[in-house]
Amino acid sequence: MADTKKLQPDTLVEDTESFRDALSTVDAQGKRIWIYPKQPQGRFYTARKWVTAVFVALFLVMPFIKVGGEQFLLLNVLERKFVLFGMVFSPQDFHLFVLVMLTFLVFIILFTVVYGRLFCGWVCPQTVFMEMIFRRIEYWIEGDAGEQRRLDKAPWTSEKIRKKALKHGIFFTIAVVVSNYFLAYIIGMEQVLRIISEPISKNWVGFVSMLVFSGVFYFVFARLREQVCTTICPYGRLQGVLLVKDTIVVAYDHMRGEPRAKLRKNKDAAQPSPVQRLQTAVNGGMAPARTAGDCIDCNLCVAVCPTGIDIRNGTQLECTNCTACIDACDQVMDKIGRPRGLIRYDSMTGIETGHRRIFTPRVIGYTAVLIALIALDIAMLTGRGAVEAIILRSPGQTYQEKDANHLTNLYTFTLINKANRDLPVELRLASPKGSIQMVGQPIGQLLKGRTHKGAFFVELEKTQLQGRKTPIIIEVWSEGKKIDYVKTSFMGPGRR
Ligand code: SF4
Ligand code: SF4
Repeated sequence: MADTKKLQPDTLVEDTESFRDALSTVDAQGKRIWIYPKQPQGRFYTARKWVTAVFVALFLVMPFIKVGGEQFLLLNVLERKFVLFGMVFSPQDFHLFVLVMLTFLVFIILFTVVYGRLFCGWVCPQTVFMEMIFRRIEYWIEGDAGEQRRLDKAPWTSEKIRKKALKHGIFFTIAVVVSNYFLAYIIGMEQVLRIISEPISKNWVGFVSMLVFSGVFYFVFARLREQVCTTICPYGRLQGVLLVKDTIVVAYDHMRGEPRAKLRKNKDAAQPSPVQRLQTAVNGGMAPARTAGDCIDCNLCVAVCPTGIDIRNGTQLECTNCTACIDACDQVMDKIGRPRGLIRYDSMTGIETGHRRIFTPRVIGYTAVLIALIALDIAMLTGRGAVEAIILRSPGQTYQEKDANHLTNLYTFTLINKANRDLPVELRLASPKGSIQMVGQPIGQLLKGRTHKGAFFVELEKTQLQGRKTPIIIEVWSEGKKIDYVKTSFMGPGRR
């Protein structure tokens, strides 16, 4: 909806989108406008507190959960080791990783097309930490928006120093805890605990990394704040191409709210409910009618917005769907006796037509692709063996005559143990009849998460040869079970 009467000189058409030309957090000189959002109150804010409690509990507990000796979730980019739900993925599983990421991308697109930025408002770590933890500490120490504004403008008294020191001290302490946990998801909780417990002199790199992470987190939550969502986050920037008219977002019902007008004291009675109207009609009188829409232009929805926007202008990239404006407006509607939901979760189609359409052709198409990808993921993940074997005939070598009746070929092998424990491993020639002779020591125990490389000869009787290249199958056995196999070929002299 328009909030401006600016006219384009050439066309003299009202510009209804001029609010998109500037960020609400930057002034005409390009300086940051510090946002002091009023603390929201209401059913969504309460629900978000519960979601935050679950989120924080999971965040703090997950690094301690082990499945088969592996951390439940580990994204060790430094050692290129990834653990999802206790399953270890090595660089050799890159194709699986790409497939999982592709599925995740389609899921994000589908989810966003249907539900908009629901993720941002409820479970994005930036929003959860900023709005539900750091901001609430700020309200607790410095008071609500008005008091914060006054405190910032006030001279540096002992009271101001005490409040600011307390706030930033708590902020930095939380940033240290968060950064340690963040590191635990990268290098593992055991490593982090070791770094913490050992003298700094033994772990300079770890200590400096933690300090850097802590500094970054502190800066993000103490200073950068909503700028992460409004200018940095790539997901936020994608909204412009993902949102459609049927997407459910936090939306202002302009059909019901406009034309907005202040509530005139003693002139506009609170809007009667249908029951009150009926009672008034039955009693023979009519309540004074308010001809304007339901929005009383109280600005409370703007006052609570952590990104400083006016949702009445329509869906904007800056909106994180945090629901604060829904709660604020619902309170106002309660006070003036109008139904809640002037700002609510709805789609543009829903607001304009009164009907929500979720399963549009686009959504059905995305869903079909998503289901196919998930099925492929499951098939590939469940079909993934505990040991992956790569066996190649040694490059540049042909065959060797061992004696009058036997030939040998040299092979190199790489065995990767993806299981959560050490495994005894043995290679066997499954077909044709022949034998394997290891170069050096037998493989023996394959350590968990480790790669073992080596070489071996395959020896065949000349009678087994099927020409220049004879197909052979080599099996990998562990604890009496075949766990993988490789098809390759054996070079011979060919038919003479
Ligand atoms: S809170 Fe509701 S009534 Fe108040 S300005 Fe916003 S939309 Fe209008
Ligand atoms: S417009 Fe409403 S939902 Fe969007 S960020 Fe602002 S307060 Fe949150």
